[in-house]
Amino acid sequence: MVEEHFITELGEPMKAAVITRIAPVEERPLELVDLPQPAPVNNQVLIRVSACGICHTELDEIEGRVPPAKFPMVPGHQIVGRVERLGPQASKFNIGDRVGVAWINWACGRCHFCLAGAENLCAEARWTGKDVGGGYAQYTVVSEDFVYPIPEQFSDLEAAPLLCAGVIGYRALRLSGMTDGKVLGLYGFGASAHIVIQVVKHLYPRSKVFVFTRPGQTDHQDLARKLGADWVGATGDTPPAKLDCAIDFTPVGEPVREALRNLQKGGRVVINAIRKTNPIPELNYAEHLWWEKELKSVANVTRRDALEFLPLAAEIPIRPEVRVFELETVNDALILLKQGKIINSLIMDFLSDHA
Ligand SMILES: [Zn+2]
Ligand SMILES: [Zn+2]
Repeated sequence: MVEEHFITELGEPMKAAVITRIAPVEERPLELVDLPQPAPVNNQVLIRVSACGICHTELDEIEGRVPPAKFPMVPGHQIVGRVERLGPQASKFNIGDRVGVAWINWACGRCHFCLAGAENLCAEARWTGKDVGGGYAQYTVVSEDFVYPIPEQFSDLEAAPLLCAGVIGYRALRLSGMTDGKVLGLYGFGASAHIVIQVVKHLYPRSKVFVFTRPGQTDHQDLARKLGADWVGATGDTPPAKLDCAIDFTPVGEPVREALRNLQKGGRVVINAIRKTNPIPELNYAEHLWWEKELKSVANVTRRDALEFLPLAAEIPIRPEVRVFELETVNDALILLKQGKIINSLIMDFLSDHA
C-alpha cells in the first residue's frame, strides 16, 4: 500500500519555516527556507495555506519534548487554506474550497483503537507538523479524509485557532464530565481556555467557571472576566467553591496537584498537555485523590472532535482573540508564547503572500 502521507514534489518553490535541530526557542531555531511544493497523491489534496496557528506543541517539538520524526520538519497543525489541486483519487472537495487541517493527519483505520472511534490513540497515526509537513509553509498536502470544511462565519485568521486550541479544548471539556450546573475550573487561560469558556457559557448556562492563571497575569485575568468567568485567581488560590471538573491547560506540573486539591468528591481533573516542562509534585493520597477523584489526560484529537466542534463554534459563535504574525517573525512569536506573555491565539498570516 502506498502510504497516504507519501509526498512527491512539484518543483515549484514555496516559503516555509522549518525545524532543523532540537534547540531552545530563545535561539530562534526555525529557519526560513524555500522548499519544493508538495504534490497530492492518492486521495490527498494540495492546500494553499492562508493562516496557520502557533501552538504550545510547537515549543515541545522544537525543544525536543515531542521531537519531529525527521529534519527538516515544517511544523504547524492549525491550518486554514484553499484546495488548490486534487490527487487522482480525491473526490470530497472542489478546487477553491476553504478547508482546515488539525493535529491528526492520518490514522490507520484498522486497529482496535481506530475501529472503536479512538483514532487519537492509534499507534500508526501521524501528526501534522511532527510526522509530516504542516502549515508553517505556503502549501501542504493531506488526505481528504482528514480535512474539514470551515464554517463561513469565520475569517481565515479566526478559524485557525479553532483547529487545535478549539478542538482539543472541546475534547478536554467532553472528557471532563462537565454538565450544566457543575463548577468548572480552568488552570491556565490562553488560546484553548479562552475558547472553552465561551463553549461552556453557551452549553451550560447554569454552571460556574473559575479561572486560575499564573500570578500577575492581569491581562489574562481581565479577558477571563470579560468572557464570563465567575471567579478569577492565581494558581495556588483556593476558590469560593469546590470544583466538580477541572481542565489544566498549563505546561507545568504544579496546577495538576492544585486542581486535585480544590476538586469536589467524585470530581475529575483533565490534563490538556502532551508534555509538561517540569514534574507534577508528589501527591498526598488522602488530600488529592481519595473520595473517588479522577485524573485523566487528553491525548491528541479525533476527526469527530473537529467535525462536532467547528459547527458548534459557528453556532455560538466563538470569537477567538488572535494576534497576527508573518512567517518571517515566527521565532519571535514562539518566544513570546514560551514566556507566557501571549494571551491570544497566535496566527501566521499567509494572505499577503497570495496577493
Ligand atoms: Zn496544537
Ligand atoms: Zn489505527
